[in-house]
Amino acid sequence: MSDTQIHIIGAGLAGSEAAWQLAERGIRVLIHEMKPQKFSPAHKSADYAELVCSNSFRSDNHQNSAIGLLHQEMRLAGSLIMRCADAAKVPAGGALAVDRDEFARRVTEEIKAHPLIDSVCEEITALPDASFGEVIVATGPLTGEALAEDILKQISHQA
Ligand SMILES: Cc1cc2nc3c(=O)[nH]c(=O)nc-3n(C[C@H](O)[C@H](O)[C@H](O)COP(=O)(O)OP(=O)(O)OC[C@H]3O[C@@H](n4cnc5c(N)ncnc54)[C@H](O)[C@@H]3O)c2cc1C
Repeated sequence: MSDTQIHIIGAGLAGSEAAWQLAERGIRVLIHEMKPQKFSPAHKSADYAELVCSNSFRSDNHQNSAIGLLHQEMRLAGSLIMRCADAAKVPAGGALAVDRDEFARRVTEEIKAHPLIDSVCEEITALPDASFGEVIVATGPLTGEALAEDILKQISHQA
């Protein structure tokens, strides 16, 4: 096991998968997720990996669809998101659609049970300084306003 701890901001689809992949490789992870202390305008549940709109992961055909091929590649890589999606699957023809509540519950349970993953409920309001070490920002399209403003400010300064 590595001594390094990686910080992940946001436990949506991206943050949850990143945490899982790192932890499965022996790397400790600390997730900073603002729910349920604070919700974006679209998020409603305290669970991680909340699907805020469609419950479809689109085509699951790995022979004729690039999206289906990506699903298959993620399964081969030990994806938590794909394993939970397959377990929470509902009938949808050739698409992979899920019961969104069951899907998010499964992801949350697995993340919280992993011995190398810790999580803290807090909103991160600015990009962390170097004392944080390695950080993955996975706050998605509805990033908290303060963090979004800080990212914009820092990008503007560099331009
Ligand atoms: C209204 C809406 C509808 C959408 N519909 C679809 C769709 O139908 N199909 C599709 O493929 N995609 C859709 N998307 C895009 C969708 O957001 C992404 O597919 C997917 O959810 C992105 O995953 P993510 O992990 O990047 O972000 P998210 O799943 O949004 O996860 C981000 C997480 O970060 C947390 N967070 C945010 N800011 C902070 C902070 N400052 N500190 C701590 N935690 C924070 C949030 O609470 C959340 O849990 C939609 C997006 C929106 C906004």
